[in-house]
Amino acid sequence: MSQAPNRELCYVLKTFPYKERDLIAVMFSETRGRFSAIARNGVQSRRFGGSLDLFTCSEFEIDPKTIRIAEASDEALLSVLSAQVKHASQTLSKSFDKLSGASCINELLIRMLPPLKASSSVFKLYSNALMALETLPEDRAISIVNAFILKMTQWLGVQPSLTRCLHCEKQLNEVEGKVVYPQVDKGAWICKGCMPEHRANALSKTLILDAFHSMLNPIRKIEFQAHRDEHEQLLGFLEQHLQYFVPGFDKAPLSSIRFLKSPQLPF
Ligand SMILES: [Zn+2]
Repeated sequence: MSQAPNRELCYVLKTFPYKERDLIAVMFSETRGRFSAIARNGVQSRRFGGSLDLFTCSEFEIDPKTIRIAEASDEALLSVLSAQVKHASQTLSKSFDKLSGASCINELLIRMLPPLKASSSVFKLYSNALMALETLPEDRAISIVNAFILKMTQWLGVQPSLTRCLHCEKQLNEVEGKVVYPQVDKGAWICKGCMPEHRANALSKTLILDAFHSMLNPIRKIEFQAHRDEHEQLLGFLEQHLQYFVPGFDKAPLSSIRFLKSPQLPF
């Protein structure tokens, strides 16, 4: 039995101001999962230090009584009373790519994790993904987001099938050519031999291998081989995969994902 049952390790995934001085936060707790809470005086209070900043892990003191603020949220809110920062990110805010990657991971978690479903494996994954963003070079930010998406699809049981061609069932290293053709509606790919006509949306085998390794290895141990632009193509495929296989993603696109993509020339 814990001596202080209302102290929990949490990250803040999103905040918005409420009235003049309060903050409403979407939080992610190791023991409670995703929930919303109000921080009275959260805008200025010293009781919270930097704990209400995004990408910061803190121990929060939580009042378990729920309250309802009709105009602010459909969900019942808990109250956070005070907090102590345990780990604050030093580098994420200094790189546009890293910050975009971290914002994207927060948005993905809010969308993919059902409310009040505790998962220590997802908590560890999230914390390691932030750590990977902090420590790896910034051109790997998009690869880490891809790995995070792939691991979350595994957790939800809707991961793409990457080891074999959907038609001939040959493995990646047995099929001809350097690319394969994704089949979004099947969550799989088809080899060049089974798809003789040229298609524009091919993905390189190196990229498929990166995706495969992303599902097998801890996020901080993945040795990515494919380049940044290739990972942008994988992100495009994964975005469609989520729209197809995870409820809710078809209704609204991910808003933070556009910051990770190279700017498109307007025509
Ligand atoms: Zn084939």
